[in-house]
Amino acid sequence: MPKDNLSKRDPRYDILFEPVRIGPVTAKNRFYQVPHCNGGGYRDPSAVVEMRRVKAEGGWGVIFTEQVELHPTSEITPFIELRLWEDQDIPALARMAEAMKSQGALAGVELAYSGVNGSNLYSKEVPRGPMNAPILTFYKDPVSTRAMDKEDIRDLRRWHRDAYLRAKRAGYDIIELYGAHGFGILQHFLSPLTNQRSDEYGGSLENRARLFRELISEAKDAVGDTMAIAVRLSLHEMGGLENAEVRDVIEMHRDLPDLWDMGHGTWEDCSGPSRFTGEGAQESLVSGIKKLTDKPVVGVGRFTSPDAMVSQIKRGVLDFIGAARPSIADPFIPRKIDEGRVEDIRECIGCNICVTGDMTMSISRCTQNPTFMEEWRKGWHPEKMNARGESGTVLVIGAGPAGLEATRAAARRGYEVALAEAGTELGGRVRLESKLPGLATWGRVRDYRAHQIGQMPNVNVYFDSSLSAQDVLDFGFEHVAVATGSIWRRDGVARHNLVPIRMDAAMPVFTPDDLMAGKPPDGGEVVLYDDDHYYMGGVLAELLVRNGARVTLVTPSNLVSEWTLNTLEQRRIQAKMIELGVTIVTAHGVGAVGAKGVTLDCAYTGRTREIACDAVVMVTARLPNDALWQELKARESEWAGAGIKSIKRIGDAEAPAPIAWATYAGHRFARELDTVPEDGAIPFRREVTELAPME
Ligand code: ADP
Ligand code: SF4
Repeated sequence: MPKDNLSKRDPRYDILFEPVRIGPVTAKNRFYQVPHCNGGGYRDPSAVVEMRRVKAEGGWGVIFTEQVELHPTSEITPFIELRLWEDQDIPALARMAEAMKSQGALAGVELAYSGVNGSNLYSKEVPRGPMNAPILTFYKDPVSTRAMDKEDIRDLRRWHRDAYLRAKRAGYDIIELYGAHGFGILQHFLSPLTNQRSDEYGGSLENRARLFRELISEAKDAVGDTMAIAVRLSLHEMGGLENAEVRDVIEMHRDLPDLWDMGHGTWEDCSGPSRFTGEGAQESLVSGIKKLTDKPVVGVGRFTSPDAMVSQIKRGVLDFIGAARPSIADPFIPRKIDEGRVEDIRECIGCNICVTGDMTMSISRCTQNPTFMEEWRKGWHPEKMNARGESGTVLVIGAGPAGLEATRAAARRGYEVALAEAGTELGGRVRLESKLPGLATWGRVRDYRAHQIGQMPNVNVYFDSSLSAQDVLDFGFEHVAVATGSIWRRDGVARHNLVPIRMDAAMPVFTPDDLMAGKPPDGGEVVLYDDDHYYMGGVLAELLVRNGARVTLVTPSNLVSEWTLNTLEQRRIQAKMIELGVTIVTAHGVGAVGAKGVTLDCAYTGRTREIACDAVVMVTARLPNDALWQELKARESEWAGAGIKSIKRIGDAEAPAPIAWATYAGHRFARELDTVPEDGAIPFRREVTELAPME
């Protein structure tokens, strides 16, 4: 991006805005939005189109699709990505390319043949891979690949060629072949684990790389005059294609692809959560690769700091700053750096809630950016709010993530906003949770909003202001958001026990609120009962061990922190518990709490057994802290007389959920002020499959 006279860019960051050549095309700067899923894919193409268009507006030099399946003999149902199987798939892909290119970015398409990672549950085709082997998927689908023979390999090459030509017709500038994260056929052939063939496609690295050479050369022949051909590889595969061999592959083919996009091991490694990996975590694995090739190298690392980015470029580690999650949390990172607004960057917190949209085949959310995937569905833009409606004043009660986002977004619309907080600091649950082991980065949810609110003359924050219903009626703000949060239950109720359990008052019972308030059990034997299944149980077990307790973690699930399968953290959490010496009891609930221990019941047989302990920590369910809301609701007839047009409860005060749900609720509250929903209309746009004509 040439620096114009109006640019307030810090000259230290100029290097990030240098154009970089990629084969026959040139990126306008070094910001490279690597392929990332979003839970929308072929089911919600227009939602994906507008999400990518916002990134174009945000100044990215290169913008990619998510993985695009190129043939029905390899698809990854139930996951929802994109497809380029035949000509009728071109229009959706073309609309995406047009959106990506709308502000001068290069449009990239990531083509994937999933091989051992595609179960073909939808197409019902027999999966193909380098050898006969069980499919390797999250769900351990009980199907296998058949070993590809020479004819299959010829077919595979032809299908790739068809996809290259279709990608060109769809208007893309870059094709990236997916060979990372264990998800792409390039890696399956390169790896000595998934390729144990004895023909010229197996054995030596030279042989295992044969398909790699063929596919890239044929891409260059087919479309390489106008399109760049890139590859996405993993920097290591535990026990298989290790970093040293990856370097050999690159050196052997140093000028073959036009660009090397380096992922980091498995998807779990590459999208490492902040609880386990910091910014720039792949540096040691990617360092030195640039010396093995003349072509540009892209790497990721949850980069949100322009100084860290500049350092990567200046030290010759990377040519492009690759980003998926940082571009989700803030699609405007490049523009904010360019405009000298670094402090306005909404930094990714590394929670991986965005990943859960893909893992649950729903549609992604982002904790930091509530507009993600709502650009088309709701017409929400991450940087622009709708104009203020007819009223002028808003009172937000509670400064947790819901209240903070409601305040920020309503003030951006132009309302006069008062934020009343019972305590003396901003942040609510985020303030407390960010002090727990591994969760410091989560404080960014508060920090971004506190900074923004601090700049706004139309926001007034009142601390030590625990409001009553009478206060709210006396103040007479036109709109009120009750964002008073939630409290953890002490009575054992969650999923396994739907009614309160028997408890002997002699046993000290704690909740996460007690521990976060700095009142933990005094060491000894502690049973932590996790019927919540997200992060809190594992995090508090770690805290208790650090405090000197001997911890037994009991959960009715078969896994510790089971829902974190969706955030790609589960394996690391369970490993951490084992390493910390936590005794893990799975498939058991706590059915009763006695004076000297707890009674466990087997989740399968109901058989009971006793274990002794000195204290119990209940990580079960939360209840809305909604007394204020209930009182206001009971006095609804007085609202109009007090000048109040609406009162809504939002976030955890309405129904407890992860932080991303709270920021979304806060944002939605602000967007919908002074709007009246159309009778019977659903609150978002959706795309309905067009019916094919009946034969
Ligand atoms: P959410 O996740 O929905 O944003 P939090 O629990 O993080 O909710 O935040 C709720 C905030 O509301 C806390 O900071 C709490 O101190 C504050 N709060 C609770 N009740 C009141 C009240 N009556 N008046 C003002 N602030 C309140
Ligand atoms: Fe980052 Fe969390 Fe947003 Fe994903 S959901 S982009 S990890 S803040």
